[in-house]
Amino acid sequence: MRIENLSHAILFSGEEGSGTLPQALSLAKYILCPGKSEDGTACGVCASCRKTAQLTHPDLHFVVPVNRPGNMSSTRSPVTDDFLDLWRTSYHENPDITEQDWYKRLEIENKQGAIGTAEAGNIIRKLQFRSFEGGARVMIIWLPERMHPSAANKLLKILEEPALGTYFLLVSHRPDQLLPTIRSRCMMVQVPPKEHRPLPPQAYENLETLLDLCLAGKPSGILDWAEDMASQGRESQKAFISAALRILRQYYMVFLNLPQLAFLDRASEVSAKRYAARMSETFFQRIYDRLNTASGQLERNVNAKVLFCSLALDFFLSLQR
Ligand SMILES: [Zn+2]
Repeated sequence: MRIENLSHAILFSGEEGSGTLPQALSLAKYILCPGKSEDGTACGVCASCRKTAQLTHPDLHFVVPVNRPGNMSSTRSPVTDDFLDLWRTSYHENPDITEQDWYKRLEIENKQGAIGTAEAGNIIRKLQFRSFEGGARVMIIWLPERMHPSAANKLLKILEEPALGTYFLLVSHRPDQLLPTIRSRCMMVQVPPKEHRPLPPQAYENLETLLDLCLAGKPSGILDWAEDMASQGRESQKAFISAALRILRQYYMVFLNLPQLAFLDRASEVSAKRYAARMSETFFQRIYDRLNTASGQLERNVNAKVLFCSLALDFFLSLQR
């Protein structure tokens, strides 16, 4: 995608938990990166990219639904800027944060958040000035379906004709609840549910390394693998577990001689057949249970080294005939 062809208002829509917000942020990174490449990728290493990843880029703005927490006494309507630090921390802890999680963070009890007219005024005010770093500006609006109609009305004009180099990225989980006046001004990008997206090659690599070590009967290598996994961040560990569950489901389909249900390309099917031939019904049952347990344990912050050593060992034992 070339920047000149990019629409100035884009609506990302996808289910909760399907990485919709991170996708919008990755486009923001591309828009703001001064060293972006022609093929549509940000350099990822410059000051701008780093600030975008930290959500601290001065030309990256956020609007999220908010409400007044019990301990906030002001009579003024709350706006996103009042909670910006909390928003950044929450995003860093879980880039796929759900609406309910956010409201829990805000401590607004059973109230819902909203994007009100005070917020709309803020948006217009911020975009009146030139960008801080002289380049493009991005306004990410998370959950525009929570926008009050009067706020939407204030924004229609700027959404239709923003200043040059200003981009609105809207991230919605319920696009059907969006005001039609907003929806019609945006180019829509549908983010597919995670289970339909191809897995990154790294996911196969991690699992296949473990399987190769187990099948070759190399327990010491298995422990190195476990230590390597344990040294990674919690998010990559979780990503490994959920990818492993999906890949093993594909292998199981191949094992059952139903490769068409594994939806694999030819190369992956060849490799899946090779592994499936060494696996048994018991292996699949045992390892499935084990991975599901591990996924729950990761949520509860158990010791990662213990978890991955015992998981790797279970792979090893279940693969011995
Ligand atoms: Zn960059």
